[in-house]
Amino acid sequence: MITTEKLYDHYLQNPVISTDTRNITPGCIFFALKGDLFNANEFAHQAIEKGAAYAVIDEEKYAENTQCLLVDDVLATLQDLARYHRKQLNIPVIGLTGSNGKTTSKELVNAVLAERYKTFATFGNLNNHIGVPLSILAITADVQIAVIEMGANHQKEIELLCTIAQPTHGIITNVGMAHLDGFGGFEGVKKGKAELYAYLKATNGYTFINRNNAYLLEMSANAGLNKLIYYGTENGNTIKGTLKSSDPFIEVTWTNHEAESTVKTNLTGSYNFENILAAICIGDFFDMNPEEINAGLANYQPKNNRSQLTKTEKNTVICDFYNANPSSMTAALNNISVLSAGKKTAILGDMFELGPESPTQHELIVNQAQESGLDQLIFIGKYFYAFKDQVNGLFFETPAEAADYLQQNPIQDHLVLLKGSRGMKLENLLQYI
Ligand code: ATP
Ligand code: MG
Repeated sequence: MITTEKLYDHYLQNPVISTDTRNITPGCIFFALKGDLFNANEFAHQAIEKGAAYAVIDEEKYAENTQCLLVDDVLATLQDLARYHRKQLNIPVIGLTGSNGKTTSKELVNAVLAERYKTFATFGNLNNHIGVPLSILAITADVQIAVIEMGANHQKEIELLCTIAQPTHGIITNVGMAHLDGFGGFEGVKKGKAELYAYLKATNGYTFINRNNAYLLEMSANAGLNKLIYYGTENGNTIKGTLKSSDPFIEVTWTNHEAESTVKTNLTGSYNFENILAAICIGDFFDMNPEEINAGLANYQPKNNRSQLTKTEKNTVICDFYNANPSSMTAALNNISVLSAGKKTAILGDMFELGPESPTQHELIVNQAQESGLDQLIFIGKYFYAFKDQVNGLFFETPAEAADYLQQNPIQDHLVLLKGSRGMKLENLLQYI
């Protein structure tokens, strides 16, 4: 069996990791992970044929030659290698978790810090037990600060990710109604996310915290945190900010008590106000001046269908179909209801992973949508469909049925919110809107 130290020597020769035989680059190390549907041990020889220097495997029968490195458990080895690499990097790592806004906040924090520092941030949404070690192993020696997104849908996951990313600084964006099934309800979400606070307490790290969020204050008090840096809308915070405009783009006035400035961003959605304040707070903590911070925020263009305002031939669409849960649905409905537009439509798809609370949560959203004063409501999916007789709206069991309807009854000159869980694939409807 190969030791982590020895494997690390190989990694240093060419620090590129691959877990997918479609993305082999010459000299990389291939980790043969197992999933529900595949066992990459079977592809180890293929990875080597394609140019991988080594393939890390955990089934002896696939150890065809000396380039195959046999270990007990490939995933655990990947995580150990990342831990080992992290220890060699003497840099601040900002660990970021929360129910909503992780990726957006991570991108904003990175956009700000990159104005001054050589940064690394998690690619896309690679935030789980595989993504976090891959992210850590992608940090090069010249990086000065790293921002690592940590996602979870059950207890002890953030605790594990902290042992890998070893954050020196941390932030929980918020806690909400997300992954209720895996966490065991909202109290379970708070407990699971607080694992980041527990890690920061144990390691004497710094925590950035939104003082407007009572849940986070309660969790930080329970964890006994004392190295806290606050942001929020009131006096007494290190960063105090005011939402100056959110129609349609977010404009924030903020002060670090030395200077006051206003920044105009390209983000839509009033919920992004707190994500922006978090980025300001972190930039300020790392000695950046307001000009640099504001430049980073003003130049950031939202992508990946999170809070993206898009003009189609017929309508203006709030493309927020990357994902949805009850908290982010509520935030998105609140947002569209205050935006100025002639006519407004919400097209909402089912929310997944809610367990026994699913019916109640869908009913709450149906009722909120009804009360939000929009001109048209379209609900898609079998969970929403259960409430079809309860409110005035169009209900379709599948996105395909909704697509047929939209083709025959096009929406014209509306502001349209398009949002649903990833599995609903609402991006397929964009062409009809
Ligand atoms: P995931 O769990 O999929 O990684 P995430 O936490 O990274 O999600 P983002 O991808 O940044 O979150 O945002 C997803 C959606 O959550 C956004 O498009 C928006 O609808 C909503 N959202 C973003 N920030 C907030 C916030 N601060 N409060 C509530 N909802 C938010
Ligand atoms: Mg994310």
